[in-house]
Amino acid sequence: MKTAMRPSFGKTPLLAAALGLLAVLGLAVQPASAEERAKDLFGAKKLPAATAAQSIGFYSKGCFAGGVAIPLDGPTWQVMRPSRNRRWGHPAMIAVVEKLSRDAAADGWPGLLIGDISQPRGGPMLTGHASHQIGLDADIWLTPMPNRPLSMAQRESMSATLMVDEKTHLVKDALWTPAHTKLLKRAASYSQVERILVNPGIKKKLCDTVKGDRFWLRKVRPFWGHDYHFHMRIGCQPGSPGCKAQEATPDDDGCGKPLAWWFTQEPWRPNKNPDAPKARDLMTMANLPSECRAVLDAPGPSSAEAATYHGGGVPVAAAAPEPEAPSLPATPAAAGLPSTMNAFTATPEIGVPLPRPRPPGN
Ligand SMILES: [Zn+2]
Repeated sequence: MKTAMRPSFGKTPLLAAALGLLAVLGLAVQPASAEERAKDLFGAKKLPAATAAQSIGFYSKGCFAGGVAIPLDGPTWQVMRPSRNRRWGHPAMIAVVEKLSRDAAADGWPGLLIGDISQPRGGPMLTGHASHQIGLDADIWLTPMPNRPLSMAQRESMSATLMVDEKTHLVKDALWTPAHTKLLKRAASYSQVERILVNPGIKKKLCDTVKGDRFWLRKVRPFWGHDYHFHMRIGCQPGSPGCKAQEATPDDDGCGKPLAWWFTQEPWRPNKNPDAPKARDLMTMANLPSECRAVLDAPGPSSAEAATYHGGGVPVAAAAPEPEAPSLPATPAAAGLPSTMNAFTATPEIGVPLPRPRPPGN
């Protein structure tokens, strides 16, 4: 079914591979056509677009400008997998992550191990994640921060703790602590945070154990994966007219029938077409909002440090002059992909069976 609907992207695999290599090497500075794979172009950017902060498009189909980085180390956090260069986000996202690290530490959590946020200018990634494209998503490990600074090598290789039994899809009780619950509750307490994605087993654990105020549970949404980290998503921020909001979550705690679905066979059926390319692998510039071309071409700051967030004040990159309004013509091809391609649409809601078990990341 999916195969029949997949659009044709008139480019040979060899040419695409060559372009990808050029992009990785930083040589494809001025892309000639909108057909180039967006992930190669955005994946090659080492620094953000030094303009006012702006998210453009949707979480799984867009980009952002004016990104800032969270420092590799802070008093209450350490960034993991630093070589990926995915510690960039909209300044509001970075501020929320930093605040969560402080608040969680005050709550008794030893500090955050921060996973992927976004590439410097967002966009689809070379590996992993359908979303994280507009600087408003962040992955936080469910492993508490060790009380020593990890070396860069350790941050690349250290494994996170798998919190869920892969057969039963239930949380491993020996690993789950009240501090985990507190951390998620703290993240959900922020008004900017619209959703927190966790493994269905973790959602079930919260449903079964949270007493008293349960209203925050509505923000915690079950999804494949997310069994060693949780995913925190904030809403579109002021100054981003092109940011496409996600549908609001229902007002109930989500512990009823929709959660029960995750404990049936249906969500876990083997993928019939495991080698089918993912949306992020197919996206071209023409599939992204046209403003993303201007984001790609915008000048960067003088260094990563110049666009690194140091709390409170205005990060340097966001202090740059307002960007000129992108004047590129809207490409009709931007709407050229069928909305039935799951990863291009809103994060799939529970109740909608999907053919792919546990897509990596997200
Ligand atoms: Zn994520």
